[in-house]
Parts: sequence; structure tokens; C-alpha cells
Amino acid sequence: MFDLNQQIAIVTGGAKGIGKGIVATLIQGGATVVIADIDEAAGKQTAAELGATFKTVDVTSQAACKALVDEVIQEHGRLDILCSNTGIFPQASLAEMTEADWDQMHNVNLKGTFFMTQAALAPMKKQGYGRVVITSSITGAITGYPNWSHYGASKAGQLGFMRSAALEYAKDGITINAVMPGNILTEGLADQGQSYLDQMTRAVPVGTLGKPEDIGYAVCFLASKEASFITGQTIIVDGGQILPESPEA
Ligand code: NAD
Repeated sequence: MFDLNQQIAIVTGGAKGIGKGIVATLIQGGATVVIADIDEAAGKQTAAELGATFKTVDVTSQAACKALVDEVIQEHGRLDILCSNTGIFPQASLAEMTEADWDQMHNVNLKGTFFMTQAALAPMKKQGYGRVVITSSITGAITGYPNWSHYGASKAGQLGFMRSAALEYAKDGITINAVMPGNILTEGLADQGQSYLDQMTRAVPVGTLGKPEDIGYAVCFLASKEASFITGQTIIVDGGQILPESPEA
């Protein structure tokens, strides 16, 4: 594991699923972690279970994201790592998708990433050090999935945001990168139903769904001091899902 001792981290959407896996692995590396989530009950439970602290946030509010970062700075004196991981993925066919469906998806997944990253970058710039790791997806930028056109757009959008932001802060000791998970077994994915989970499993060449910690370890690398020369990049963690099979395979 990379040495994350003395590092102060915020993980949005850290109460459950991939975020919880990121929290667990950051703590394993020695980081002090603040879980920031809209689900207070699950957030408090995960914080107690893993040895983190919890703060309520709705990432669709710019004021709430700024207040969260201000509180963390007040309590810990600095912020080294932001994992902008919050995301939602309700399905909607394109024919029936409403403006509200579209807006909700983008408000949480894309605008939430903008608000949290912007808030975190202010103290990171002052201290001359920071690591931002965004949880995107293979869906959108690389693959597509029926009934997820709004989700795919938000996830591809996160990558466009990440690349330009990385260049803006490249001289400030701050790196901004993304992980692109494939099919990871989380509460959110399980909510889509068993036949959907079976279909998702069949799509993965290694033969199983990923675990939240599989994403966490990639995040820990990008969040480490050792990854200082990597910015504006993505790591795909998908069990080989996006590899095209050669015709003779
Ligand atoms: P999940 O539903 O299990 O967990 C998401 C967490 O975000 C929850 O704790 C929820 O309370 C929180 N959250 C939702 N809306 C919020 C808001 N407005 N403000 C603050 N917190 C909020 O989801 P997951 O599967 O762990 O997904 C996490 C991230 O990984 C998402 O960005 C998702 O797009 C991405 N992802 C997941 C998969 C997968 O297979 N599970 C694949 C690719 C990408």
C-alpha cells in the first residue's frame, strides 16, 4: 500500500458501495478520512465501522460543498485528497426521459463533481499540494448502455471536466485524475435487480463483478504522493470488460 499517513481526505458518496471501498483502502494506507454523504444513517454507520468521521452533504448544493470543505479545514488544518465519487444511475429510456430525469442525473454526477472539486481546490492551491480523484465510469466515455444516455453523458462529462481542470492546476502541486470502474457489486447496482446483475457478471472477462476495494486501490495510487507526475488521466478498473475479443478468440 502507498503511505497516506498524515493525509486528510474527503470521500463523497462514501457511505456505501464504491465510496465505502475507497474509504476502507484510504484508511488502510493511513489517511484520516471524512465521509461526506447525503445518507446520514448509512454514513454514520460506515464511519463507525471503518474508523472515519462523517459529515452530511448534498453535492448538488454549491454552498453545502463549500461549507463541508471549510469545516474540514477548520478541524484538520488542511485537505490533501478529494475523492469525488458520488453518483446516481436510475435508468430511463431516451423516448420517455424527462427534463427532470436529465437534470437530476447531471446535478448529482456532473455538477456535484464541479462543486466539490472547486471547493477543494481553493485550500489545496493555498497549501501547494492536492490530489483529486473522480469516480467516472467506462459507460459514457468508452462504452454505452441502453437506458443510460443521461448517465453516460454525465460520466463522459466528468472526464472532460477533469482534463481541463488538471491543466489549470498543473503548476500548483495538484493532480486531478479519474478512475473508470466497470461492473462493481454495490448497493446501487444490486438495486437494478438480479437478472441485471447476472447480465453484468457475464460481461466481465474475469468472471466476477468487481469489489468496491478494487476501485479503492486504484484511487489510493492516484491519491499518493508517488503519483505526482500523473494528471488529467484515467485508470480503467473493469476486469477486462472493454477489451475487444479478437475474431479468432
Ligand atoms: P451507490 O448507490 O452504492 O453509492 C452512492 C453513494 O452516493 C450513496 O452512499 C448515496 O447516499 C450517495 N449520494 C447519492 N446522492 C448524493 C448527493 N446528492 N449528495 C451526497 N451523496 C449522495 O453507488 P456506487 O455503485 O457505489 O457508485 C459510486 C460511483 O461509482 C458513482 O459515481 C457511479 O457512477 C460510479 N460507478 C459505479 C459502477 C458500479 O458498477 N457500481 C460502475 C461504474 C461507475
